[in-house]
Amino acid sequence: MKNGFTTKILHSDLESPIEHFAVHKPMHASVAYGYADARDLAKVFKGELSGYVYGRQGNPTTAALEAKISKMEDGIATACFSTGMAAIAAIFIALLRAGDHVVSSSFLFGNTNSLFGTLNALGCEISFVDPTGVANVAGAIRPNTRLVFVETIANPRTQIADLTRIGELCAARGVLYVVDNTMTTPYLYLPKRDKAGLIVNSLTKYIGGHGNALGGAVTDTGLFDWTRFSNIYDNYKNAQPALWGILQIRKKGLRDIGSTLAAEPAHRIATGAETLALRMEKASGNAVQLARFLAAHPKVRKVYYPGLDDHPQHRLATSLFKTYGALMSVELADGIDCFDFLNRLKLVISSSHLGDNRTLAIPIAHTIYWEMGAQRRAEMGIADSLIRLSIGIEDLDDLLGDFRQALG
Ligand SMILES: *Cc1c(COP(=O)(O)O)cnc(C)c1O
Repeated sequence: MKNGFTTKILHSDLESPIEHFAVHKPMHASVAYGYADARDLAKVFKGELSGYVYGRQGNPTTAALEAKISKMEDGIATACFSTGMAAIAAIFIALLRAGDHVVSSSFLFGNTNSLFGTLNALGCEISFVDPTGVANVAGAIRPNTRLVFVETIANPRTQIADLTRIGELCAARGVLYVVDNTMTTPYLYLPKRDKAGLIVNSLTKYIGGHGNALGGAVTDTGLFDWTRFSNIYDNYKNAQPALWGILQIRKKGLRDIGSTLAAEPAHRIATGAETLALRMEKASGNAVQLARFLAAHPKVRKVYYPGLDDHPQHRLATSLFKTYGALMSVELADGIDCFDFLNRLKLVISSSHLGDNRTLAIPIAHTIYWEMGAQRRAEMGIADSLIRLSIGIEDLDDLLGDFRQALG
C-alpha cells in the first residue's frame, strides 16, 4: 500500500539509517569528501559509483530534500537549487541552444519573464501565448520548439492554464512540457497527471512556507523521452535515457553555474515541507472565506480568486486542484487609496513575498509591475488599485476582523 502525502515526507529520511537513531537527516556542512581508496573517488567522478565529491555539486542534506520532493511530485529524480529562479534558469541554460524556440504562457512570474528576455538576447526565440486556450499553444508550436512552459495559477490575476489539454498536445507533438507548480504545490496539483516532463517548484514559497529559506527544485517525472531531444550532449548519454535530462541539468545548470542549495536552507525547507498539507488546507480555507467576504463588500470592486463562481476558470480549477490555493487579488472601489487601505491593516503585512504562513499584501502596480510602465500594465489588466494578497494560516476571525476594520 502506498503511504499518503504527509506520511511519505515524514518518513523519507529514515529509509536509510541515520547515525545515533536521529529522525532528521543531519546538516552536512562539509565541502570536501575524502575517499580511503582513490579509485572510488575516480569512480564517483565517472558516475560508476554514487557519492559526493565537492559541495557545489550537492551534499547529503540537500539530497535528502531532493528525495522528498521526488516523492511529493511522484517524479524519478529532483535537483535542488539556491532559489526558484536558479532552478528555472538551469532548465533553459542546460537544455536550450541558439536558434531554439520556446512557447511560454504570457502570464508569468515577473523574473521568469525577464529571464526570457535574456534568452532572447542569447539567440533563442520565445512566443508568448494565452495558455487558457490550448489552441493558442498549438498555433505557436514550430519544428524547432524545444519546450512549452506554463505556470498553474498565474500571479497576480489568477488565470489558470488549460493544463490537461496542453499536456496532451505536448505529448502528441513530442515537445517537452515544463510546469511551474509553485503556486499550487504538489499537494494541490500533480503536473505528472497531465503529462508534464519537468516540474519546477520555488521552495521559498509554500513548500518551505516559513519565509526563512530560499530554494528551488526541478523534478523529472520520467514521462519525457529524452532520446527524442536533440540537445543532449554525448557525455550524458551513458546513463539510462530516462536520466539524461536531469543529468544534463545537474551538470550544466547546477555544477557549472554554482547555484547550489546549501545544507542549512535545505534542512529548513525539509522541516517546513513536513506540514505543507496542513498549511495549504488552512491557508486555502482562509482564502475561500476571505474572498467571499471581500467580493460581497461595497468598498471592493473586484476579487480575482479561482474559488469564486465568477472566476473564468472556476470549473477548471475545481477539476484540476485539491483546493483553490491561497493567492488572490482585489481591486478597491473608486476613491479608496490602496496605500491608505494597506496602512490601516494591522495584522496583514505589506510585503512582496508570497506563500508565507503570515498574510502578506502588496500594491502590484506601484511595486512589482512599476518598471514595465502604464501601457503594459493596462494590457495585462493590472489596475492601479490592484492589491495582491497571499493568505496565511492565521485564525480566520482575526483576518476577517482586520479586513473589516481596514475597509471601514
Ligand atoms: C517566487 C516564484 C519563482 C521564483 O522563486 P524564488 O525562490 O523567489 O527564486 C518562480 N515561479 C513562481 C511562480 C514564483 O512565484
